[in-house]
Amino acid sequence: MSPARGTVSGTTGRRTVATLGAAYIVFAGGWAYVRATGGEPSLNVLIVTALIVGPGVILIYGAHRLPAYDITPNYYPVIGQWCLGAIVVMTAILSLYHFQPADSFRNPHRSFLMFTALSSVAGLGVGIYDARARTRALEVDRRNRELRRMQALLEESNDRLEQFASAASHDLQEPLRMITRYLTLVEHRYADALDEDGREFVAFAIDGADRLQEMTDGLLEYSRVEADSDSFDRVDLDDVLTDALANLHVRIDESGAAVTWDSLPLVDGDRRQLRQVFQNLVSNAITYCGDEPPRIHVSAHRRGQDWVVSVRDWGIGIDSDDQDRIFDVFQRLHSREEHPGTGIGLALCKRIVEHHGGQIWVESDPEGGSTFSFSLPAVES
Ligand code: ADP
Repeated sequence: MSPARGTVSGTTGRRTVATLGAAYIVFAGGWAYVRATGGEPSLNVLIVTALIVGPGVILIYGAHRLPAYDITPNYYPVIGQWCLGAIVVMTAILSLYHFQPADSFRNPHRSFLMFTALSSVAGLGVGIYDARARTRALEVDRRNRELRRMQALLEESNDRLEQFASAASHDLQEPLRMITRYLTLVEHRYADALDEDGREFVAFAIDGADRLQEMTDGLLEYSRVEADSDSFDRVDLDDVLTDALANLHVRIDESGAAVTWDSLPLVDGDRRQLRQVFQNLVSNAITYCGDEPPRIHVSAHRRGQDWVVSVRDWGIGIDSDDQDRIFDVFQRLHSREEHPGTGIGLALCKRIVEHHGGQIWVESDPEGGSTFSFSLPAVES
């Protein structure tokens, strides 16, 4: 409904209620005049007049106060309709009572004015309640539509970003390979023609190109998390972890890492992606183990509707200020000289876990190592 119509109907609704109030005051005055001049005791006239004027004043005051309530003006007419409806219902009841054979009102005008005035106030109360409920429903509906619109926009922009990252990293692969190939050729064929500095510069350039290659590979994988997994299968995380450890066996042997684990649950997911999560977390636990040989324990516990899987290490830990940003793309806390890496591993884990309907987080202190945990929706086995 347009704002202009809303204003007009709002004015009409308030006017209906105020007019009813004014009408009762006028009727009460007329009735009091007739009764007082007809010889009825003043106290009787006063009380009955007050019982009619009172609701009239309440209706006028209510109409005046309506804008202060949490009601959209489009629903003011609903309040007027409730007041009129209450008068009609009361009139019907009074008429039925009046025309019954056994008994009837001694003074029908007085009863009619008094009871319908009181019932119109009840109508005002119910009307305000109803109009507020409708306003709230309208607001919820508006918010839902806004949320759906925002969600569609977000999905669209996410899709575009994914396409961009995927295309950019994919298209970068070929020229990158070319750079590495020709630099390696220079290194091999013209090594004798280069002096010490020249050989060092070529080695730096090859190292830079290799790094760029790793980063674009990671970015490509990151941007394809959703596109690469259409449907989920029931997977046993015990098997997934075993596969991940098998892929890491050289690093585990070389570092002398002790990896232990409890029984892990069945979940619905993409086996390859979940293996990647375990692989990245265990690999990090080995990389950031500190001076002692790595110790790693993998466990799972139920939390409501989810399983929480944790990879615990006793390594160098992570400062609390850095615990959020390490899940962002290319965020690293150490230089390449200290520890090799691209800074995409945890971002990839986060994306995979979120794609599976879960969350990932870390609890850590630099003294006691880190526990990376991720949740996955539980399934009925
Ligand atoms: P990468 O390991 O390639 O640098 P990640 O995204 O896997 O990238 O990790 C981001 C950063 O988080 C790392 O550079 C490291 O500083 C920190 N980090 C990750 N895992 C651990 C861990 N188990 N213990 C301490 N720090 C860690």
